[in-house]
Amino acid sequence: MSCVQQEETSSTGLRGREFLIVETSKCIYCGFCEPVCPTLPHGRHRGYGPRGRVFIARLVALEDFYTDGDEESLYSCLLCGACNEVCPARIDIVRVVREARSLLVTR
Ligand code: SF4
Ligand code: SF4
Repeated sequence: MSCVQQEETSSTGLRGREFLIVETSKCIYCGFCEPVCPTLPHGRHRGYGPRGRVFIARLVALEDFYTDGDEESLYSCLLCGACNEVCPARIDIVRVVREARSLLVTR
């Protein structure tokens, strides 16, 4: 079993902050998700694409520094799921964004 598969298994059954920390740790920064994202070409930076959103979601989960612009990038996601289809690490990016939004409104 690869490291990626082990991480994927370990996120099963987790929710909220715990899910986010495990799920976002699977990102290998390959960028395969970026060409399929409909919002990235219209954003001000890579935070408006899936790779950036996964990174920002991790900051939110870890209560690390993030900006209002980072929050905006999470809320600008269309939840279309195109990124989920191509991510080799099989990150559920749509759920990552949803869980991060939930944390933002409950903090
Ligand atoms: S779900 Fe969000 S991040 Fe993923 S491709 Fe769609 S708009 Fe981009
Ligand atoms: S495709 Fe998956 S692993 Fe690669 S950068 Fe995007 S979210 Fe990270």
